[in-house]
Amino acid sequence: MSATELGAELDTNALLPGAQFIPSPNCDARPPGVSVELIVIHAISLPPGEFGGDGIECLFTNRLDPEAHSYYAGIHHLHVSAHFLIRRNGEVEQYVACDRRAWHAGLSQWNGRERCNDFSIGIELEGCDESPFEEAQYVVLAHLLQVLRQTYPIIAVVGHAEIAPGRKNDPGPCFDWSRVR
Ligand SMILES: [Zn+2]
Repeated sequence: MSATELGAELDTNALLPGAQFIPSPNCDARPPGVSVELIVIHAISLPPGEFGGDGIECLFTNRLDPEAHSYYAGIHHLHVSAHFLIRRNGEVEQYVACDRRAWHAGLSQWNGRERCNDFSIGIELEGCDESPFEEAQYVVLAHLLQVLRQTYPIIAVVGHAEIAPGRKNDPGPCFDWSRVR
């Protein structure tokens, strides 16, 4: 998947053409009258530090086997999701339609506003604190940000760490913010 294979705009179901849609149950309606103004960048790898497996998909669809890895025992019960996941090779998976509220930010605050899930889009990059993100991920991320900016009145692009300081540190030290700002 390269950025040129992705749609230039969201479809009528608020899905990105070219992304693989894997519906997550971990979402609900956004509050009435609230517009999408924030994009939150995350990083995730499951098991931690390993790429390419089905752990993230299983987590976001409540199918993570607590016995498959010692780390999974502590997180398999979580009900979480994000709108998008950008894999190491640039392939995009969408778990929640953009007009729905994905459960990615948790306890959070931005610009004095709490519950960032209400008014944000969550984008996960498959990654960790020890490895630089891939060029293909930055290219696709830039395309995705452009699509979202032309769809919603986006005010800011922030990291999860910025809206949940002390609790989260993703996307972490390897993420190059100069690529998105
Ligand atoms: Zn996060």
